[in-house]
Amino acid sequence: MLSVLDIFRVGIGPSSSHTVGPMRIARRYTKHLKRLKLAKSIHRIEIRLLGSLAWTGEGHGSPRAVLLGLLGFEPETIDSAAADKAIVELTNSRSLPLLGTTIKFDPDRDLILDCETPSELHPNGITLTSFDANGQQLDQSQWYSTGGGFIASAEQLRTKPKNDLITVGSNVPYPFGSANELLAICKREQKPIHEIILANEDQKRPREQTERQLDRIAEVMNDCIDRGLETEGILPGIIQVKRRAPALWKTLNNGVPDESPEVLFDWLNVYAMAVNEENAAGGQIVTAPTNGAAGVIPSVIRYYCAAKPTATEDTRIFLLTAGGIGLLYKQRASISGAEMGCQGEVGVACSMAAGGLTAIWGGTPPQIANGAEIGMEHHLGMTCDPVAGLVQIPCIERNAFGAVKAANAARMALKEIDQMKVSLDQVIETMRQTGIDMSSKYKETSQGGLAVNVVEC
Ligand code: SF4
Repeated sequence: MLSVLDIFRVGIGPSSSHTVGPMRIARRYTKHLKRLKLAKSIHRIEIRLLGSLAWTGEGHGSPRAVLLGLLGFEPETIDSAAADKAIVELTNSRSLPLLGTTIKFDPDRDLILDCETPSELHPNGITLTSFDANGQQLDQSQWYSTGGGFIASAEQLRTKPKNDLITVGSNVPYPFGSANELLAICKREQKPIHEIILANEDQKRPREQTERQLDRIAEVMNDCIDRGLETEGILPGIIQVKRRAPALWKTLNNGVPDESPEVLFDWLNVYAMAVNEENAAGGQIVTAPTNGAAGVIPSVIRYYCAAKPTATEDTRIFLLTAGGIGLLYKQRASISGAEMGCQGEVGVACSMAAGGLTAIWGGTPPQIANGAEIGMEHHLGMTCDPVAGLVQIPCIERNAFGAVKAANAARMALKEIDQMKVSLDQVIETMRQTGIDMSSKYKETSQGGLAVNVVEC
């Protein structure tokens, strides 16, 4: 059963599915080997990245993430300086400290980006195999990075119930498996969406702990914006993208005051771009719901909540509402670009942000659902085609657009007078079907779209 704190997780850039997930899988594998008590027998480990992880893993930092996971690092607590040092040591020594011993590990030989072998149960597969000194296989595990930092073993994906739409909560006071059910609960209980979600979270941990974690999420989002606004330079990777948020930030603060109403776009743009430039540089990020789409929600929160005396309370309401909407997408469809294209990342982030903003603007539960629906409706069919496999073009600007669209969607929802014609459930299902029908060229493989039409250098 999922929590909104599974949707918003602290990690590192540039990708939740290609960096955070693989790091968690590699870390999980070392724990698995420890449980099997194989420390004395292991001579070699081989890791194969399959599917989208093979096609775009290099640009998304997947090999480095796997090494860090094997070295014992976790995305939530990683110390970047210590991580860099450990990677240099491993690369120079071609050896890996593992379970109290040291084995030979040559990343060029033992970490393979395998574009040939199909990734069976999900497009982001990882096969991890251990061998003894005679080359005999000791263990093989198959894992998948399913988007937003979530991971699942092959067994978990195979045994997933056919109809898992009600997994939001059988052991919570307000279980719901669809937006319609959530709205019905709100109506019956005469409570807003965030109170229903919070009551469900209370079942998992004390209220103060949830609030502390929500505040911590907001703090990491804000710190990320601040770093992105200050840090100038060129982003890592072959396409040599210059960071643009610092220059725009300076213009907004020190340039000729811009009285035009469209200056709103500049503010939303600069906050979103600051986050996604930090993400592209491998900085600390909150999945919202993924790393690639991590700029939309912090931008909207920063612009509309941060300066108000009620900032803390508004931000909690925003995150709970947006998180509840994110749970619906995660459980009824997917938040993985490798499965859904970018509609499943920036589209979902926009939908979540539109719902959160409608909530803090005083919208009713149906208006919130309507805002979330509008936020997704106009992202349907959006492909994932990152140039050079880097989470930069179109990703950085796309988050800025997602933030602007979210504000527009929330305003439209608040002015809606007639009954809405498209429900949130219908648009989520439409996104799912569109994602299934989308060619794999447009699902985080960099085999189509901008990725093949933009010259890389
Ligand atoms: S295009 Fe969208 S889905 Fe693809 S990597 Fe960029 S942000 Fe993620």
